[in-house]
Amino acid sequence: MTKLDIPFGRPWIDDLERDAVMEVLSGHILTHGPNCHAFEDGFAKMMGSGHAVSTSSCMASLHLSWIDLGVGPGDEVLLPAMTHVATAHAVALTGATPVFVDSELTSGNMDLDDMAAKITPRTKAIGIVHYVGIPIDMVKVMALAEKHGLKVVEDCALAVEARIDGTHVGLFGHTGCYSFYPVKHITCGEGGMLVSKDPETVKRIGEFRAFNYDRSGPGPKVPGLYDVKGLGMNYRMSEMQAALGRVQLTRLPDIMRMREANFRALQSGLNAIEGVRVLDSGEDRLKSSFYCVTMLLEGVLAAKRNDIALALNERGVGTSIYYPHPIGRLRYYRDKFGYDANGFPVATVIADNAIALPCGPHLGVKDMEDIISCMAEIAETMRRS
Ligand SMILES: *Cc1c(COP(=O)(O)O)cnc(C)c1O
Repeated sequence: MTKLDIPFGRPWIDDLERDAVMEVLSGHILTHGPNCHAFEDGFAKMMGSGHAVSTSSCMASLHLSWIDLGVGPGDEVLLPAMTHVATAHAVALTGATPVFVDSELTSGNMDLDDMAAKITPRTKAIGIVHYVGIPIDMVKVMALAEKHGLKVVEDCALAVEARIDGTHVGLFGHTGCYSFYPVKHITCGEGGMLVSKDPETVKRIGEFRAFNYDRSGPGPKVPGLYDVKGLGMNYRMSEMQAALGRVQLTRLPDIMRMREANFRALQSGLNAIEGVRVLDSGEDRLKSSFYCVTMLLEGVLAAKRNDIALALNERGVGTSIYYPHPIGRLRYYRDKFGYDANGFPVATVIADNAIALPCGPHLGVKDMEDIISCMAEIAETMRRS
């Protein structure tokens, strides 16, 4: 059996990106210049509407969003138990209390009934995550939020090009937050974007992100002159990163075509294996970003998740786990907020029994066929052992 060469992720970088970054380095504007503005405009255009401001990371975008909403000590914010720790850190850093919501088993997204059940008089907001790019039904989330007067922030780190009834995710809540870390849909090395349908929100957060400089005062526009109208951070993106991001954006149509073809091929092949089920939105109107293929193991295979992941790795198939623990089970959150081991039964099943497989543009449909036959053999062996 020849060893496969199927890494979990690999950024798509070639001469176009290298030339764009070199061009920045040949000039003299290295930060908040024309590349950032063009990347922001291009990103908003890709989304179809809304306004965008570049940041240093998705976590920075999330943190800025919560600061902008004035969330702080005494407030509760509902968050999925199944997410990247950045989602929870961004809330915990403000002093607010994250309250975790269990998942549902079709898509891995937040369970809307559990979300409603966890609302208290102290609940101020809901932090949504589109689980591995599968959109949660934002129409329902916004209806619940409006009923209780709650603000909504969307973590769209894995959800570029995910759409609900044709509307891009990130345009439903107060803000949508994106990541350009290397394994995401498009990369700047590090980087983030914050979008909102409200131009004032984007302007205000954009200023906060850059020390809250105010250059709008009267008098001549002398370089270096500014006033400061409030607290702020430095959460900016550099021109080198933005130049990379602009080129990456032009690849997005190809990236999405390849991701969807790979996802569909792998999904149907894996679903045909006994004891394997691929998580998906379950509704055509909820269009995924096809970030990865999350394979949930059932029956006898479930207990052998780690052995199966290692067997796949041994055969040259890269895997990952989204996510290894419900957030409350991570040491810091357990110690600080306590954790009810029985409180998140579905999130626990996904954390302990799922394996994520790649479907990125570094791979083709032939690779998907190889993963399927490899997984079918491993499943057969594991069932008999
Ligand atoms: C990757 C990721 C983040 C963090 O993104 P950074 O740009 O590295 O800060 C946050 N949330 C989710 C869901 C992610 O997948």
